[in-house]
This record gives sequence, C-alpha cells and structure tokens, in this order.
Amino acid sequence: MLKDTYCGDLRAADTGRTVRLAGWVHRRRDHGGLIFIDLRDSHGLVQAVFDPGNAAAHEVAHRARSEWVLAIEGTVQPRSPATVNRNIPTGEVEVIPTRCEVLAESETPPFYINEPVEVDETLRLKYRYLDLRRPDVARTIRLRHEVVRYIRDFLAGRGFVEVETPTLIKSTPEGARDFLVPSRMRPGHFFALPQSPQILKQLLMVAGFEKYFQIARCYRDEDFRANRVAEHTQLDLEMSFVDESDVMGLIEELYAGIAREFGPGPQSSPFPRLDYADCMARFGIDRPDLRYGLEFASIAEPLRSSSFQVFASALAAGGEIKAIRVPSKADMTRREIDELTEIARGGGAKGLATIGLLPGGEVRSPIAKFLTGGELRGVSTLAGAAEGDMLLIVADTREVVAASLHRVRDALGDRLGLKTPGVLSFAWVTGFPLLEWRPEEDRWDATHNPFSGFRPEDRELLDSDPGRVVARQYDLTLNGAEIGGGSVRISNRADQEKVLGLMKYTREQMQDRFGVVLDSLEFGAPPMGGVGMGIDRLLMSLAGTENIRDVIAFPKASSGLDPLMGAPSPVDVGQLDELGLRVVTDVEPV
Ligand code: ASP
Repeated sequence: MLKDTYCGDLRAADTGRTVRLAGWVHRRRDHGGLIFIDLRDSHGLVQAVFDPGNAAAHEVAHRARSEWVLAIEGTVQPRSPATVNRNIPTGEVEVIPTRCEVLAESETPPFYINEPVEVDETLRLKYRYLDLRRPDVARTIRLRHEVVRYIRDFLAGRGFVEVETPTLIKSTPEGARDFLVPSRMRPGHFFALPQSPQILKQLLMVAGFEKYFQIARCYRDEDFRANRVAEHTQLDLEMSFVDESDVMGLIEELYAGIAREFGPGPQSSPFPRLDYADCMARFGIDRPDLRYGLEFASIAEPLRSSSFQVFASALAAGGEIKAIRVPSKADMTRREIDELTEIARGGGAKGLATIGLLPGGEVRSPIAKFLTGGELRGVSTLAGAAEGDMLLIVADTREVVAASLHRVRDALGDRLGLKTPGVLSFAWVTGFPLLEWRPEEDRWDATHNPFSGFRPEDRELLDSDPGRVVARQYDLTLNGAEIGGGSVRISNRADQEKVLGLMKYTREQMQDRFGVVLDSLEFGAPPMGGVGMGIDRLLMSLAGTENIRDVIAFPKASSGLDPLMGAPSPVDVGQLDELGLRVVTDVEPV
C-alpha cells in the first residue's frame, strides 16, 4: 500500500507518529517560505506543512496544484494553539513531510472542488467524477451506503433472505411505460426491464422462502418531472403468512430505527395512521405533509341557505365548502391573498374567499356583506377560528376543493416556514379504493397494482359496486411524499381472475400477461404481503435535499439524458441489423 493512514483520521493522539498519506491537493497556500497543503482523501483532509529546509519535498509542494495526487511521508505534530482549526476533525494536528511524491498531475478542474459554490448541473454531471470529490456531495453517497447497510442488517437479523431477481424480464404491472430491450436471438421480440420485482417476489413466496427482500433497481419510462427518475432503487420485500399489521409493523420498526440512527427520530411514534377518505377530506391529498396542521374544516352546514350565490350554487350542485384556518393571519396583505388565490385557481377553483377576524371583533372580508351574523358565527365555530385568525375558503366540487385547498395548504407550509428541515414526519395511509374507473377506456383499473388484495367483506361489491371495494393496501408517507407502499396480495386464482376481469383483460390477455402468477396460485400459494419502499426519496429527507440527483451517484440530468456517458446514443447499423431493427428517423423526440 502507498498509504498506511487516512488523512481525515489523524487526531491529537497520533502526535509523533510517522505516517504515509496519499490523496488530492484540496488547497495549497504558498507563504513564500512555508507551503501549506490540505491533503484530502476519502476520510477528510489534513494540513501538511512544507519547510524550505527539506528542499526535495518543498520543491514538489511548490509545483503541486489543485487536485494533483500526492504521496506524503511525514511526522504528525500538534498545531500551535493559535493555529488549531476547530472546524475540521484533524484541526489539532498537522503533518511535517519528510518525503513527497507526485502520483498524478491534474488539469485545472472545470469548477471548484474545494468550495461549495453553485455549479451548473449539466457541467457537474458531465464531470460527475470530479463533482463526487466535493466533500458534501460524497457525504450523501456515503450516507446512502450506511442507510442501505442498516436495512440489510436489520432484515437479515430478522431472517429475511436477499434474492436477486432478473432485470431482463417480461413486462410487470406498475402502470408505467416499460423500457424495452430487443432480443437478438428472437428478432422482433423484446425483454422489458422490471418496473418492480412484484411478480417474481410473489413467486418466491409460492416457492416457500417466506421472507424475501432485495435492494432492487426498478425502471419506469415516464416523462420527466421534478424528482422523477427513470431508474430508481427500492427496498422490495415480501412475507408469507402475514396480514397488513405484520408488514406495517416491521417497516415501521425499520424506518423509526433509520430515523433515529440517521436523524432526530420520527416526529411521532407510533406513526399516525390515516384512512384514505378521511385523509382526502382533511388534506385534499393522500400524502399530506404532517409537519404542520392547517387541516381543512367543512363549513357547509351554516351556509346551506346562504344568499351568497357562489356558496349556494356549489352546495346545490352537490359540492362542498371548506376552509383553512390560518392562525393569527387576519392581517394578511392584499398581495399575499392575491398570490394564494392564484395558487387556488391552479387547482381549478374559481376563487378564494377570505374572512379575516380582526382583533376587536371587526371582520375583514369581501364576502362579509353576503353573510348573516349567524352564518359568520357558524363558519367561525366550525373552523375553530378565534380573533386574529384568517379563513381561506373554497366552494366547489369535492375534487376541486381538495386540489385547490391542498395547493394553498402546501404554499402556506412554505411561506410560513412550517416545513421544518430535519423533522421526519411519517404517516401510514390505508383504506384506498382497490379500483378506479377509466371512462376513456370504459374499464376499471387498479389504483396501485393488480395483485393487491381486497377486504373479504367487500367481495360482494366486486359485482355490485366495484368502486367501493377497499384494497388491503398501505402507503407510507414522509413529509408530504409517498416513500413506499405495498399490500396483502390476492392469493387465489379465482379472485385474481375476477379482478383482472374487471380491468377488462380477456382470458387470453390474462394468460399472456399474468399467466405465471395465475398458474402459481394453483400450486399452494400462501397468504402473502409486502412492500416496495423508495430508497431515493428516503435519502432525500435524511440528507435534507430537495433534489433527487443529490442522492444518486451517477444520476441522469433532469432532461432524462446522461451527460456523463452521453446516453442515449445512436448505435451501429450492424447492431441494428443483428436485432432486426430499423430506425425510423421521422419520429419526433419527446
Ligand atoms: N410493487 C409495488 C411497487 O413497486 C410495491 C409492492 O406492492 O410491494 O410500488
């Protein structure tokens, strides 16, 4: 080995040791006589001080530039009290080199590595190997390693077996577009990259493994949106002989443990459990950010016979009227109100009604003149409003009220600083409908995946009212994002065929797409359930970043392209010939 010690590991206790270090020139300061080099390696950095008295080493230090790779042999000595640097772990010591050798020179990097300056993301990704040298960037990738190791240790300790499933498979059903891989052996035929190992993990349960997990790469060819990536990693897990509470209990223990090990612990333990319908009614979304309140209150009752047209007609059409109470914000500025109104409009609302309850009993509201004193009092009571509070109100269909007030709540969370960084607020959501109607396709579709089981008491509803069947599905949310979910599965052929039939698969299509699952269910399938938990999103919360690319070593750019490798790229005609493919060039890029 060229080195026997990591730069970042040196401490006062190492004083007097002769060490062999190797790493990169992080920073170099030439003070005329003395030259200081901060030498950086994967554990951190340490200061080396070159004295002209050692001419050979001093000459190397003189020539060295940022990001050159050096090997240094030297003695560890304490820094003088005045030069101790409390900001770095090695700040009490420095190394006095006896020998210094250049292992590699470096061009001037295209951006600063030793300063956390903003750099254009495409440039960062093109030179990701240099970007990853930046200590903050590298720290997040190391954190990812630690978290995944924690997960592996936790599950292995509970008897789970890690099984790799193939990535060249047949299409799997997570509702996204597949990435396809053409087959050379069978021109015109394609493999699909897995959207998840769903089918294979169910087969592992039929095979008798009982407890499976995998840190699995999943591929979904979706259009690019913020924080969507074409390939994501999930903790994929399946268990036999379990119900919802077994899987949820296990995952909750794991995630609370992660939150404690790598953060301040969960905001609430046990994690709150929300019923889907209740959650939609209170927050307008199935993944509410519970770091803060601002729940919706239904204020329709006292307004049933209101003379205010907007309210009256919303209720007459079967709609709703809901309010968010913003404590002590009766004095919101015109401009703030206008901005929130625009945000509400983004969710489909025609406007945002406001009632400010000024201290002293005065009411500040453009709609006050349409409301009786009794109506105003009724509304305030239902919203739990007191003097000083502001009510933000939307009257419309249930969907529009939910979508627009959710946006308003989310914006308030940002504007009022309620999304406290570092807080880890988990919640379970259960009670989802199994199916949703797709009018344009005239069929039902699974809200999550087609193998999710349903409550046994809802069996009749599959015939009479499929939209009301409740799935045995559970999603875990963290700070307003869905970070995973799963279900207790259907484990008999008849039920599975029934559900696929509602989705309008013909017998042939069922056998073609899901035949392997259907057949396996006839050979002694145990009751089973599991989850797929997104690793990237969890890491984002633990690392405190809003950018999913920060937690991935080699991410695609936000365009979905890969500036590092230059992918995707054209291929040789010969390769296409072998695959029996021809490129039709007049297809528009997305
Ligand atoms: N297959 C699901 C997914 O990838 C997770 C699960 O139900 O286990 O989202």
